[in-house]
Amino acid sequence: MTATTHRRLLTEIPGPASKALQQRRAATVAAGVSSVLPVYITAADGGLLTDADGNTLIDLGSGIAVTNVGHGVPAVVDRVREQASAFTHTCFMATPYEGYVEVCEALAELTPGSFDKRSALFSTGAEAVENTVKIARAATGRQAVVVFDHAYHGRTNLTMALTAKSMPYKHGFGPFAPEVYRVPGSYPFRDAPGLTGEQAAAAAIDRIEKQLGADAVAAVVIEPIQGEGGFIAPAPGFLPALSRWCSDNGVVFVADEVQTGFCRTGDWFACEDEGVMPDLVATAKGIAGGLPLAAVTGRAELLDAVHHGGLGGTYGGNPLACAAALGAIETMRTRELATAARGIGETVLPRLRALAAETGVIGDVRGRGAMLAAEFCTPGTTEPDAELTKRVAAACHAQGVVVLTCGTDGNVVRLLPPLTLPPDLLEEGLSVLEQAVRTEAAR
Ligand SMILES: *Cc1c(COP(=O)(O)O)cnc(C)c1O
Repeated sequence: MTATTHRRLLTEIPGPASKALQQRRAATVAAGVSSVLPVYITAADGGLLTDADGNTLIDLGSGIAVTNVGHGVPAVVDRVREQASAFTHTCFMATPYEGYVEVCEALAELTPGSFDKRSALFSTGAEAVENTVKIARAATGRQAVVVFDHAYHGRTNLTMALTAKSMPYKHGFGPFAPEVYRVPGSYPFRDAPGLTGEQAAAAAIDRIEKQLGADAVAAVVIEPIQGEGGFIAPAPGFLPALSRWCSDNGVVFVADEVQTGFCRTGDWFACEDEGVMPDLVATAKGIAGGLPLAAVTGRAELLDAVHHGGLGGTYGGNPLACAAALGAIETMRTRELATAARGIGETVLPRLRALAAETGVIGDVRGRGAMLAAEFCTPGTTEPDAELTKRVAAACHAQGVVVLTCGTDGNVVRLLPPLTLPPDLLEEGLSVLEQAVRTEAAR
């Protein structure tokens, strides 16, 4: 592999080799599994993805907030290689190993709150979120789970129930798990002007108390910044008020930090921004540099309320994934990636704001750290423009910049660059995005 340090387009995107693979794929891969940009990747390095045609693309998506530390990081690669030659699997529930314990030690130290903690490891974010519900129900003896508008928590049956958006996540896949109740959250761009976080929380709490009664509720599950729903950061005060109500009422406050975790938002975890200490935290995505690992971490008395053998899974806390996590966490520490994430936000936000002012098609620019978004609207309104959003993303893709979209209305371009992305590649990626917005807005 020849390492390239720049975006380089040798063919159209996708090129002939990717197109040939796409044909083979159509004959054998299920149509329900989609790809945002069907270029077939052969290598990745320092924020660049190399495809089967030899093109190199700037990665502003990190495989959906997973490769926060980038690719090919020695601390990750060396540990995984060493672990692969030592042993690859025993099943922690059969015969345990040190890596699992070490990851739980790191999680106890890194997650918010200095109370006594325990962790259980899993393989996917959805699995971690499901287990927060299992733990909260076992610990409280209650059943109801409260979630929010625009929430995304995964694709398993219970997490589909927790997720708000029907197409594509839930459509045709019901019936869904019962005892899940949705309430309004806080969406500053779309809420009544001037509505404070405390007021938004009071409205949600009022709904819960009137329709469920606090003593029926096992858990409130919330993304501290909503991901798939549109990178929606609640108004200040919303999360603290909700968390306070939970602790006053014996309700388990669960933070789904699957997308926001591991330095993404400029802190180790997004809850830290307002000093919120969740009872349980679900993590995955950025935890292990691309290997499948997930965790539930939280108050010892909650996790230990579950009966012996009640938590687990064949692959949960796989040794390779644990080795990768320890390497990724070490990299986040030594390279100070929370600070790097803040730096990315400081570069991107002013440019997106200027672009919004210039073009008039971006209704809201928001985000924290390296979790950043532009919400596209018909100029002068808050009317979502999903069609323009799609065209902007496609124009970026054609120019070799990988951006993703999100939002209940599909009108948000989101940026999730690797936190190690070299500044010149970030600048170049942004220039491509700016040009794409200018061109498509003028169409
Ligand atoms: C991605 C995501 C999940 C689901 O994680 P998977 O690993 O895809 O199962 C859950 N919650 C949030 C907030 C996510 O972004």
